[in-house]
Amino acid sequence: MYGVHGQIALVDLSRSKTYVYTLDEKVFELFIGGKGLLYYLGYKHIPVEGDALDPTKNALIVAPGLLAGLAPASSKVGFLAKSPLTGILCDTYAGQVFAAKLKLAGFDALIIKGASRDPVYIYVENGEVEIRGASHLWGSNVYDTVNGVKAETRKGASVAAIGPAGENLVRFANIMVDGVRAAGRCGLGAVMGSMKLKAIAVWGWHKPRIAHPEKLKKLYVEVYEKLRRDPLGEYTSKYGTLKGVESCSKHAMCPAYHWTKPWLPEEVASKLSAEEVLAREAPKTDYKMLAGSIWGWGCPIKCSKLARSRKKGFEHLIVKPEYEILAMLGLAVGVLDVDEILHIEWLVNAFGMDAISFGETVAWLMELYEKRLVGRKELTCLNHEPKFGNAEAVRELAQLIAYRRGIGAILAEGVARAAQILGRGANIAVHVKGLEAPAWDPRGRRGLGLSYATADIGASHLRGWPSGSEPPSKGPAREKIASLIRDRDRKALIDSLGLCAFPPYRDEDIEALYEAVTGQKRPISELMLVGHRVEALARIFAAIAGKVPEADTIPPRWMEPIPEGPFKGEKAFLDWNDLREAVREYYRARGFHEEYGVPLPETLERLGMTWAIDDANRALTLVSRRLSSLHV
Ligand code: SF4
Repeated sequence: MYGVHGQIALVDLSRSKTYVYTLDEKVFELFIGGKGLLYYLGYKHIPVEGDALDPTKNALIVAPGLLAGLAPASSKVGFLAKSPLTGILCDTYAGQVFAAKLKLAGFDALIIKGASRDPVYIYVENGEVEIRGASHLWGSNVYDTVNGVKAETRKGASVAAIGPAGENLVRFANIMVDGVRAAGRCGLGAVMGSMKLKAIAVWGWHKPRIAHPEKLKKLYVEVYEKLRRDPLGEYTSKYGTLKGVESCSKHAMCPAYHWTKPWLPEEVASKLSAEEVLAREAPKTDYKMLAGSIWGWGCPIKCSKLARSRKKGFEHLIVKPEYEILAMLGLAVGVLDVDEILHIEWLVNAFGMDAISFGETVAWLMELYEKRLVGRKELTCLNHEPKFGNAEAVRELAQLIAYRRGIGAILAEGVARAAQILGRGANIAVHVKGLEAPAWDPRGRRGLGLSYATADIGASHLRGWPSGSEPPSKGPAREKIASLIRDRDRKALIDSLGLCAFPPYRDEDIEALYEAVTGQKRPISELMLVGHRVEALARIFAAIAGKVPEADTIPPRWMEPIPEGPFKGEKAFLDWNDLREAVREYYRARGFHEEYGVPLPETLERLGMTWAIDDANRALTLVSRRLSSLHV
């Protein structure tokens, strides 16, 4: 097949060996690349049973999208493993050049299994895979690790690395790419830590065979120009997601003060405005230091910017915070000061932790503390009072969590497990299926709660947004299902192609790029089926793991009425019955069993996945037994 190498490298860290094998063309037709390939390979290689931090029961899959290095802003590389937070498959993505360099290094995916006895890193260059010792890097923060690996490989290599949090198996440790972008969600950095894998570096120049190279060259320039001139592209180029605080405060969708103030008055929200952040943009001369890794491959938008805090004694250069950072390291913990947020962001990235999960877990502790549900004596090793707005406490907690010291060892388990261990606060922990929620409160937008409840990985804001922006009281959530499915499947296609989600690609351009690269003419509706296939596999896995359908729900906090502002009284759904009906209707629309949420055999047949039918039948039987035992 054109557009792919057809080669997968399986790296067995226990045996210190690499095996290269080919994949059938049919797999690329059904699953395309990137996200699709991650789920296909993850489903085949990762057992449902067993702890995610036991390397004999997990694997890390890395895949660039089909168009990586071949299309404008083809910047996203995907990582997938069984999540230490949720116990189910989870994919997470990072920019900017790693994807293209991995593809040009000659592989469509890496499968990493087992654990090394001593720390190692993997170096992939032009079809060769080396496992190198990394004992000298173990203990280093993310930034030093990236620089160290580059110095030992190539300056132009791209490096995905973990920090101390990953080494110490913090369940929400992330994988940082080139120190500037995070494959943040689900704790896949801890999976690398459990394998004693400190980093993966890639470099190469081998393009796969292209069906119509001349046509692709012309198309590349045309699409690049269209994206550059598009008003939405220009807006994104200037702001990225920096207008998020303004938007969430107006629509009552903020996680402020641990989701107790979804609506914020303008004078409060303006403290974290886009202008406040842009005023700290670093001078252009600073960009030289990170040139080559700050923007996505072939990106016409270039939304990433560098910032410097004005805080005395903290002079580090850092990629400007996006909305999720401002909201989860700022609003959620009550820190309304951009300079303090930059400092916290730098630390959290250096330790290699997911800012969303970290922010939720710390904000949850702060609420418990302020309500006197946890006492000073229980907070071992913590010197600063965990009160909303105390930036020093947030920074101290980052350190304690990354090194699992004192109370940090409990919080390193993530908010759901921490609530279980402490025996308190489960009713206010904001997560879905064990994954801490991102910074958009669904009480401000009808249908968003349904997206969270049914997303394959747990609470994710990147699994489809229903159309419209009216609040939930405007009608039943089930009216939003069609637009949620369309957006979910389109997003899955974008992630399978390895494109950035920000540039406003038109459907016809995606079809044309796909055809120029592969030689196959396929309408966007057919390409988008990859989303349905991925979800079907994820659901079978999650049903056997005991998460589906039981955990297709939302946390109680989002059913508490909004306390003030123009959206006062809104909840994520009309009531719990509205949620249940919408979930059931969603299952029907997807061809899943309407009570069990598991794909039906005829749906799998329609999707060309008859090989998964036996597993689906097993899942149906297991769920039926579980649910009937609950009703006895
Ligand atoms: S739009 Fe921004 S995030 Fe996307 S590839 Fe370009 S620089 Fe990266």
